[in-house]
Formats: sequence, C-alpha cells, structure tokens
Amino acid sequence: MIRVGINGYGTIGKRVADAVRDQPDMDVVGVAKTSPNYEAEQAVERGYDLYAAIEDRSHKFAEAGIETAGLVDDLVAQSDVVVDATPSGVGAQNRALYEEYDTPAIYQGGEDADVADVSFNARSNYDDAVGAEHVRVVSCNTTGLSRLLAPLREAYGVEKVRATLVRRGGDPSQPSRGPINDALPDPISIPSHHGPDVNTIFPDLDIDTLGLKVPTTLMHMHAINVTLAAEPDAAEVRELLGEQSRITVVDEHLGIEGTGQLKEWALDRGRPRGDLWENCLWGESVTTEGSDFYCFQAIHQESDVVPENVDAIRAVTDSADAAESVATTNDSLGI
Ligand code: NAD
Repeated sequence: MIRVGINGYGTIGKRVADAVRDQPDMDVVGVAKTSPNYEAEQAVERGYDLYAAIEDRSHKFAEAGIETAGLVDDLVAQSDVVVDATPSGVGAQNRALYEEYDTPAIYQGGEDADVADVSFNARSNYDDAVGAEHVRVVSCNTTGLSRLLAPLREAYGVEKVRATLVRRGGDPSQPSRGPINDALPDPISIPSHHGPDVNTIFPDLDIDTLGLKVPTTLMHMHAINVTLAAEPDAAEVRELLGEQSRITVVDEHLGIEGTGQLKEWALDRGRPRGDLWENCLWGESVTTEGSDFYCFQAIHQESDVVPENVDAIRAVTDSADAAESVATTNDSLGI
C-alpha cells in the first residue's frame, strides 16, 4: 500500500483525500491543516488523522476541541508521497520540508512550473513523471485543455490552438472573490498565461489563449478552435472524443444547456460534492470546417484535477503504468 499524506485540506485537498482513500493500493496517512475550521472538523469526522501545519498555531486545535496526531513534519516523515494542496505559492515554500524527509511530493497548478521537475497530465505525459521526486499536477484549465488536445494531436496532428477561457469568478466557498456584476477580460493582455501552461505539457504546441472572469461559481467554460493537420468530419471527431475516459461528450437528448444543469446532473447521479471529474464537452458543439475544429467544454475546477493527483501518486512511486493507473482510478471513483 502506498502511504499518502495530504498537506492542505481545502477545496482540492479534501477531494484528493477522499479519492486516495477509495483506491485499492493506497492509504491516507493523514491530512494537515493550518486552522481548526469546518473542514478540519470534517476531516476528523471522516476518520482522517489531522496534523497541524503550523507549529505556532497548533494550540488552536486543542482550544477548539479538535484532536491532532502531531505536526506536519510527522505526517511527511510517515508518508511515501505527499500531495501538497496548499494555496498558490505555499507549495513552493513547503518543498524544503519534503526534501528534508526525502518524501516525493505532488504540487498543484497554482504553483509555478519550476516548483517541480515535471508538470503532469495523466492522458498526456504520465511516463515523464515515473520515478520523479517533485511533480506538479497542472491547473484545472490546463488539465481540461490537455485532455482534449492529446487525442486530437495523436489522431490528426495539431497546427494551432485558439482557446477562450470563460472562468468562474470564484469557487462556491470563496466569499471574497468576484466579479459579482461584470465580465472581466483577465488578463486583459493577450495571450493569457494559460497557453504557456499547456506548453509545460506539450512544449511544441502552438497555442494562444484568452481569459475572462464572470460572475459564476460552478464551472469554467472553454470555447475552442483547433486547426488540425487533417480534415476529419465532425462525427468522426466526436466519436474519438467520446472514447476518451475523462471526456464526457454531453448528448443532445440530455437537454443540458449549461453548467447549472451539468452540476445538477452530477448531484442527481450521487456524485460526491456534485463533482464532475471529466471534461464535459457538448456533442452538438463538435464542428469541423475544413481543418478547423470547434467545440464548447465545461471544466469543474474543484474536481477535474483529483483523478490526476491519484495517477501522479502511482507515477512517482512507479507502481503502475499509465493505462493501469487511469483504469484503477476511474473504476474506484466511478468515472
Ligand atoms: P483552498 O484555499 O481551498 O485550500 C487550501 C488549504 O490549505 C486550506 O485548507 C488552508 O487552510 C490550507 N493551508 C494554508 N496554508 C497552509 C500551510 N502553510 N500548510 C498547510 N496547509 C495550509 O485552496 P484550493 O482551491 O484547494 O487550492 C489549492 C491548490 O490547488 C492551489 O495551488 C490552486 O491553484 C490549485 N487548484 C485549485 C483549483 C480550484 O479551482 N479551487 C483548481 C485546480 C487547482
């Protein structure tokens, strides 16, 4: 069994912890948090050993009546792998801690790419992370773009990608994010940083991205144009995308018009926290004009990176190849 510690138990960390617990070949050693808030209470409720991430603040857990199993150092020392799901920039500060205990670490997309030796997407470059000590699972948007582009590159070749990312203003649990009544080019400069992030997965890819932020919390929406090196018809491309295990091609008969109904669908299916781990790509939007491919896809920012973190754990421990890992992760989560 691979012993996994999770440092940072927020939006991503709590989902990764539950996903790791569901794996047949992994155990959760525990989770580390800075403060005894509702998520800390729930970590204990779910049976995870809770570690204090900051020594000076560890007394606050006892004051709140929440028992801890030790400090984050103890968690790192006991773990075969640590998943760092702390806020952007904190992961880079934590790298020295993981090095001190010689514990391989997996970071999140909010970190700069140079925090790790490899940026990771299971569908695209699993093998690059095999045996690596420090791996970064790319951001929610980059994960969604990589999953779409990998099969298009393999089947047809890709000459140029143009993607407009309509991003949710904040996660549902973030009270201070916005906008609440605007549509903001973000960043105003073009291209946005997302294209270069996709280049950490596909260095030779020609991609330009534009970013906006809008007053929603549910999901991101991508409007995509890919110039292919071939001229396939739309039905063929749709079939190819439908074969990808982490792309759900949303069929017309479902009557799903937007992200609200996608989330409702996830809740109706009993998905934990209403999570949508797969890209949700509207089948009806799959269009080709000569060598140009177009589509809309929605990305659930809170959960699409979760199966990727699970696969990254198997890659760094060299315990399965890409196909085995993806199959095991998908089976255990219900993807
Ligand atoms: P979050 O704020 O929801 O959770 C972060 C958690 O880390 C909180 O529980 C916080 O208390 C804890 N924390 C803060 N400082 C810490 C420290 N020094 N040590 C240990 N824990 C600490 O953040 P999140 O949304 O889960 O984001 C985590 C990472 O995942 C970031 O790099 C982010 O960019 C990336 N990411 C986020 C999303 C998203 O949409 N939320 C999607 C993909 C990737």
